[in-house]
Amino acid sequence: MKQGKTILVLGGGIGGIVTATQLRKQLASEHRVVLIEREENYVFAPSFPWVMTGTRRKEDISRPRTKMEKLGVEIIKGDIEKINAEQRSVQVNGRTQIGDYLVIALGAEMADETIPGLSEAGLTFYTLEGAEQLNEARLKFNAGRIVVLVSSVPFKCPAAPVEAALLLENDCRKRNMRAAVQVDIYTPEPGPMSLAGPENSRQLRAMVEAKNIGYHPEHAVTHVDADKKQIVFTNGVTADFDLLVYVPPHRAPKVVRDAGLVGESGWIPVDKYKLTTKFPNVYAIGDVTGIKLSVGKPLPKAGVIAHGQAEVVVNNIIKEITGQGTSKLFDGHGACFIETGNGKAGMGTGNFYAEPVPKMKLFKPGYLMHLGKVAFEKYWLFKWF
Ligand SMILES: Cc1cc2nc3c(=O)[nH]c(=O)nc-3n(C[C@H](O)[C@H](O)[C@H](O)COP(=O)(O)OP(=O)(O)OC[C@H]3O[C@@H](n4cnc5c(N)ncnc54)[C@H](O)[C@@H]3O)c2cc1C
Repeated sequence: MKQGKTILVLGGGIGGIVTATQLRKQLASEHRVVLIEREENYVFAPSFPWVMTGTRRKEDISRPRTKMEKLGVEIIKGDIEKINAEQRSVQVNGRTQIGDYLVIALGAEMADETIPGLSEAGLTFYTLEGAEQLNEARLKFNAGRIVVLVSSVPFKCPAAPVEAALLLENDCRKRNMRAAVQVDIYTPEPGPMSLAGPENSRQLRAMVEAKNIGYHPEHAVTHVDADKKQIVFTNGVTADFDLLVYVPPHRAPKVVRDAGLVGESGWIPVDKYKLTTKFPNVYAIGDVTGIKLSVGKPLPKAGVIAHGQAEVVVNNIIKEITGQGTSKLFDGHGACFIETGNGKAGMGTGNFYAEPVPKMKLFKPGYLMHLGKVAFEKYWLFKWF
């Protein structure tokens, strides 16, 4: 008699939602699909910059995972305390869950405390709470210097700091205070979205500078002096600010690090096409993975990538369980909208796996692209919830 399999999906963010939903839809009911997630509601992070500028509220972008549950995904709400990849088991709420397959989609953990003074001095739009606090801070702010600081690389959504600076700059214009405000971006990167190639990066930087936003590449922060409202960089440069808006340092979640799953990069090493780990029937997808590209830099952390990888893993697990269909490989394609303010957005799209270098195209900002971003948000929240 054919035996039902259990697939444990760890993490109910973008990668985990796509994986669990698609597996449940496509596998017969004798197989169990179990999603383990600590948060009650899913929140759509790509809309955080809009929360920061007051065009979205928490309730617009948060959803319970009831649709998945109705489909038959078993949801365990709890904090995963331990992972044993060899045994394909995890500990959650004090109980052990064992799977025939494990899909690790636990995302990235924010490590604000690793930069002294950072969270005391600034606010981040990388969490919902932070974006809400920034919305309040923005409304009280009417003159001075806004600094958008990238704490370290890699960070999710390479376009996000540029987007944040452009949206805040636009907000100052709309509120008739642009002349009283200076906006600057400081980042350890050589240029914005540098993986998109030197020409695209140059164009993006020119777009930022055309709005009179200062762009300061190759500045790695050491600490922030909250009393002096000053950022100190490794190269000895300091930057004063009145409002500090930051991208926190990222690292693999503690439970993943404690399980000895991370490699040299600090993230889970996987086969870049199949998303397999060194453990049989254990996959990892999305932000928690570290995939080195031919140019030596990591594949960006983005929802669109997590989604694409999830589709591949779903296909391949189903093929293995049912013996039907053909294997799929992740092809390295990705795309992201770049909100520029004033109802416009641009877009970067292309293939990160292209040889010898990633092949990316940058589309100039326009109204249609902004509508595309809004439509994508609505579509995502409608399709999966
Ligand atoms: C400001 C901002 C803007 C962005 N804009 C875009 C964009 O325009 N386009 C784009 O493609 N991407 C964008 N992203 C990136 C995108 O949100 C992430 O890359 C994507 O969510 C990664 O998916 P994931 O499944 O790997 O991780 P996540 O979606 O982060 O999901 C991980 C899940 O694991 C859960 N979890 C973690 N640890 C545990 C534990 N121990 N126990 C139980 N549960 C746990 C978390 O609660 C979370 O739900 C943006 C991100 C931010 C912050």
